Amino acid sequence: MDIYDPAYIKSVLRPLGFTFSKARGQNFLIDPEIPRRMAGYIRDMTGGAPAGVLEIGPGFGALTSALLDASDKLAAIEVDHRLADVLESRYKERGNFTLLRGDALRVDLNALADAQFNGLVPVAAANLPYSVTSDMIGALIRATRYRAMLLMIQREVAARLTAPPATAEYGSFTVFARVFCETKALFDVPPQAFMPRPNVVSTVMLMTRRESALVPEDKQPLFFRISRASFAMRRKTLHNALSAAFPEFARQAVSQKISAAGIDPGVRGETRDISEFLRLCDTFSGT
Ligand code: SAM
Repeated sequence: MDIYDPAYIKSVLRPLGFTFSKARGQNFLIDPEIPRRMAGYIRDMTGGAPAGVLEIGPGFGALTSALLDASDKLAAIEVDHRLADVLESRYKERGNFTLLRGDALRVDLNALADAQFNGLVPVAAANLPYSVTSDMIGALIRATRYRAMLLMIQREVAARLTAPPATAEYGSFTVFARVFCETKALFDVPPQAFMPRPNVVSTVMLMTRRESALVPEDKQPLFFRISRASFAMRRKTLHNALSAAFPEFARQAVSQKISAAGIDPGVRGETRDISEFLRLCDTFSGT
């Protein structure tokens, strides 16, 4: 049994009536070197402590198999029942494996960590389906239990996560992720590493949760309201963008609040960094 052999994969799945679903991002890894490299990061992600790994979308198990060897407990959640059946029967002898069936976007990921990874350091790993990449990253960041996330994603999304201010890729998603995580691009994966071949290059990212968020919890609602508004109208000045987002303040007052934060109201919002959004948060929190 070679789970990376396209002929073997098809021979198992065809009788089950399986066809690859684009909507579910079903591009399976067929290069065994990639899972091996990814699994090599798990110990670092937990700082050497026993690892409880959540795998999202195990598919035919390309990554699952390598993660099982690298973790103390692996819980994998798969939405496609035919794939879940295959994995369940393949790994049923492994005491440190639990297969969960369902949509990872609809489960309480913190509750899952508490139920599955008692006494372990929870981390997440996945070759994420393209269709839900941003939503899934958002859900993993909001689920505070996971210390780090090792994620294979589209290279364009990886560029958004690591973008510096004033670039086309820098946006509210960049700022949101950066407030909570340090993000590093580890390596690229070419289309030929998958079946079927996607028409994009993928990147494996390591997102490590910060000890404390760059924005205190009580300030986050206003901070994200300001940062989202600053990117909502990318061609507009910060003054125009924030005037539109804060109709409760007169335009003149908005201009004063931006200046009081030490920022020129005529710049574009997308050029601002987190410390500047934080200063805006302070000047906008007054009346
Ligand atoms: N991990 C496997 C690999 O690397 O070969 C498969 C990765 S494939 C890109 C994505 C997998 O996620 C598919 O098996 C798909 O059925 C599953 N999936 C898609 N949406 C999902 C969701 N919302 N929740 C859980 N699994 C999902």
